[in-house]
Amino acid sequence: MSVKIFFDLDGVLRDLSKVMGFEPESWNAKHPETGQSVMEILNGDLTLLRDAPPMPYLSRILEEFKEIKIATVQDLPWRPYTKEWIEKYIPRAEIIWFKDGEEKLEYCTGEHAGILVEDSPMLSDYVNVILIDHPYNRHIRFTNWGKVHVRVHNPDQLMHELRKWL
Ligand SMILES: [Mg+2]
Repeated sequence: MSVKIFFDLDGVLRDLSKVMGFEPESWNAKHPETGQSVMEILNGDLTLLRDAPPMPYLSRILEEFKEIKIATVQDLPWRPYTKEWIEKYIPRAEIIWFKDGEEKLEYCTGEHAGILVEDSPMLSDYVNVILIDHPYNRHIRFTNWGKVHVRVHNPDQLMHELRKWL
């Protein structure tokens, strides 16, 4: 079966929580000490985007996939730092930039009939999404049942799901 697999970047491959100094409990979480939002922290120091460590999923994905397609929404000022990060950790990746999550969802799961590995709680549907578990997306209940509608908690579970499509 040749289904295209697209990987979101932040919260899937790159771990921004480590450099922000806290793990967001919700999409609009603020730093417990400074009160800054995620966007305020990152926009205040774009080098955090370059210096963030990888998520534990990345090493497994690198082992199993020759081609890695990254589908990511990044503001224009973020992109040079994000490119540096990707060149360091995933030099063979193909990067596809989007202006918002809906454009990404449509491209990955509509136009290309693929599977999107994603952490965002903001998508309009999750039919062809493998959702990487985080506190901020635990309320997503997969109401639109489709061919892929699964939540994974660790790299083994992700590989188990992805192997069904390889
Ligand atoms: Mg993300």
